[in-house]
Amino acid sequence: MGLQIESDITCSVCLNTSGNTLLFDVNDYKVYECSFCSHQFLSEHSESKSSIYEDSYFEGCFEGGYEETIERRKNDFREIAKILLFYLNKTTNKTILEVGCASGGMLDVLKNEVGINAEGLDISKYSSELARKKGHTVYCTHFLDYKAHKQDDVVLFTDSFEHFRDVRMVVEKTYEILKNEGLITIVLPNHSSFSAKIYREYFKDYAPPYHLNFFTMRSICFLLKKYGFGILAIEFPYFESQWFNKEELQKLGRDLIDYDMGKTFDHNQPAFWGNVMIVIAKK
Ligand SMILES: [Zn+2]
Repeated sequence: MGLQIESDITCSVCLNTSGNTLLFDVNDYKVYECSFCSHQFLSEHSESKSSIYEDSYFEGCFEGGYEETIERRKNDFREIAKILLFYLNKTTNKTILEVGCASGGMLDVLKNEVGINAEGLDISKYSSELARKKGHTVYCTHFLDYKAHKQDDVVLFTDSFEHFRDVRMVVEKTYEILKNEGLITIVLPNHSSFSAKIYREYFKDYAPPYHLNFFTMRSICFLLKKYGFGILAIEFPYFESQWFNKEELQKLGRDLIDYDMGKTFDHNQPAFWGNVMIVIAKK
């Protein structure tokens, strides 16, 4: 299999146009890899219009419904909160803005369990309303249209950053609305993980048109540093999660045997260490 090099394809992180290669097609979208910063991205970017995040997105695309998924995910949210608090100097009252808060599962943990002042922002009216019903303050807008009335100590993206098309503008905006020494915290799929390399297009987070940018450890660090952030840590939540179990590991084991026998995959990857990363960087 030869590499197909495209000369007019621009990397959405570093703007390099030279030597970028076509990796594969997913759902009829072409996924490219930057030859400079290793970022992976779509050629024809679909806008993250609010229309694709209406009721059906939050009700239909999760087994058992979105709300049930959120309840099951509370343990993951607790782990993220624990890691974030480790890096947050909590000597004074801190404020967090969660971008892409959906129906407020993470806000529940931050506000009700950790006792930190957290607000949310979401493009979907439907999920903003759900979060407000739980007592949360939610700004219903696209992040780039958000008119900040204050600066926050933390801007948190939990599974939302990869949904943005203009990731450079998102980082620039985050820098503006953070206090000095504030933290950007991004929880996102790791497209340089062991599983992403083995499963390739079957790594489930190649999910256009919802996911528009596919970050590697290198490309997310490159992006944050470019806009003035200092990287504090990359963490890989897994061992504390519900996903670290015998069944998932057995699935992976069977797949690795198939892989070694030269078979190609027809299904997504099981959970494994490194698939999800939490990047914490300081202004
Ligand atoms: Zn690049």
